[in-house]
Amino acid sequence: MDDWYRTFPMGHEINPFFNSTNKGEYKELRKIKIAGYQVKVQESAHLLDNYNCFGEYSPTTQTIKLDARLTRQQKEETLMHELLEAINSIYDLNLDHDNQLCKLSVVLHQVIKDNKGLFDHMS
Ligand SMILES: [Zn+2]
Repeated sequence: MDDWYRTFPMGHEINPFFNSTNKGEYKELRKIKIAGYQVKVQESAHLLDNYNCFGEYSPTTQTIKLDARLTRQQKEETLMHELLEAINSIYDLNLDHDNQLCKLSVVLHQVIKDNKGLFDHMS
């Protein structure tokens, strides 16, 4: 059984009972520091084909994957969603997926996008 939290186009989450590790090629985008972890962010060529999902997060490998063919906005929103999946897992927050985690990821993405340089004016 694998441990990937997957984000599907309809916003639904399942944890499939088949092994997914590293099907298809991927490209390393960056690392994001969360608490004591360095979470890897990768673009995957085959996420949509193999699982019909936009993104996924693995707490075991601390990796977020995004499908390479998403639009820029879809990638950003999916990254925000998977970041919250990582935070939820690392801090054991037990956020309700649809009512809390999904809504938080949408609004955080919006606030960050609509308020460029959010912290720049502070001394
Ligand atoms: Zn999710």
